[in-house]
Amino acid sequence: MTHALALLATLASAQSRDEQIAQRAAALKPSLVEMRRDFHMYPELSNREERTARVVAQRLRAMGFDEVRTGVAKHGVVALLKGAKPGPVVAWRADMDALPIDEIMDVPYRSKNKGVKHACGHDVHVAVALGIAEVLAGMRAQLAGSVKFLFQPAEEGLPEGEEGGAPFMIKEGALANPRPRMIFGLHTTAQAAVGTVGYSSGPQLASADEFVATIQGKKSHAAWPHQGTDAVTIGAECVLALQSIRSRRIDPMQPMVLTVGTIHGGDRHNIIAETVTMAGTLRTFNESVREGVRTMMKQTLEGCTAAHGAKYELRWGGFSYPVTSNEPVLAAWSAGVLKRVLGEKNVILSPPVMGAEDFSYYVKEVPGFFYWLFGANEARGINSGNHTVNFDIDEDALVVGVKTGAALLLDALAKP
Ligand SMILES: [Zn+2]
Ligand SMILES: [Zn+2]
Repeated sequence: MTHALALLATLASAQSRDEQIAQRAAALKPSLVEMRRDFHMYPELSNREERTARVVAQRLRAMGFDEVRTGVAKHGVVALLKGAKPGPVVAWRADMDALPIDEIMDVPYRSKNKGVKHACGHDVHVAVALGIAEVLAGMRAQLAGSVKFLFQPAEEGLPEGEEGGAPFMIKEGALANPRPRMIFGLHTTAQAAVGTVGYSSGPQLASADEFVATIQGKKSHAAWPHQGTDAVTIGAECVLALQSIRSRRIDPMQPMVLTVGTIHGGDRHNIIAETVTMAGTLRTFNESVREGVRTMMKQTLEGCTAAHGAKYELRWGGFSYPVTSNEPVLAAWSAGVLKRVLGEKNVILSPPVMGAEDFSYYVKEVPGFFYWLFGANEARGINSGNHTVNFDIDEDALVVGVKTGAALLLDALAKP
């Protein structure tokens, strides 16, 4: 066969495989909706995904998965589907946790756990991953290689003092024995119409670092301020001085966000405040900007407090995610698969956003591709942002997620 003929043959077999996947995914729709609604009704907070993990493991075992490891990084589940033919290993990751947000939507699948809601669509992620698992389990005879599924707890952050999320999954061997050659994942959002997906080439989501800065002053009577060191006025200066890092010290062409989200201090109206504590987040698309800003924040707080005879402490906290980036060559290859499955016009090259994802930890270990599964439906009023009280997703997105995910994994197994 000539090279061109060989290419055509490969494309034809990919297309017939896509058709098979599409049929299987469409047939699964009622079960995908049922699973998604079940997870939506019983949302669990980060590192508390007991029920979710139990349901996931039960379903995977029922599909005939060879290995289903539970209790990985607390409630994580790592499962392996071995194909009938030998070949490489590729992986899919889904996060499982929900958020401390009250559900206000009046829907039949409304959250039954008061004060907890799947407001980031991780219920959709779990259902899609189980759907992909089911489709591929049904195509096992054609599978050359293995597919590893990572159901990950605690993407949204950790309870005080606990370990969790992607770094903990890696530490507990989620990427070992066997090690995948590639990893894929998606995030759902209602930022664009259901039926479409989006991706970036290069940075897609920001690095995110949580910090707590404490200004240490000295108490005195408010009428004798010179006998104390006022942490409130110094703290106010520090907040503004930190903003100058963005406006004057970082290249304007480099995206960066430095937000002080909380500030607390003082005991009474007539006492000079001894301490002020502020917490915030730093977001960038570039690891050297990230490092640079951390140094500049130290310099700023040091100078600002020293000028007034106060002290400071800067702590970097539990939430610390690297930039989530799609390596351009792999992004182009993946986009090609997505376009073949969904049609060119339904695959959107999206600008990066300042949200963050701990999927970035996996991509530091093995090549990976992350994309957006869009689920807006304007006519039905489904267009709220992630982490809002009425966040929802058009459930047609479930089938789109399964079709694209299964195709990416099968193509990745066949990739030279
Ligand atoms: Zn989220
Ligand atoms: Zn999320």
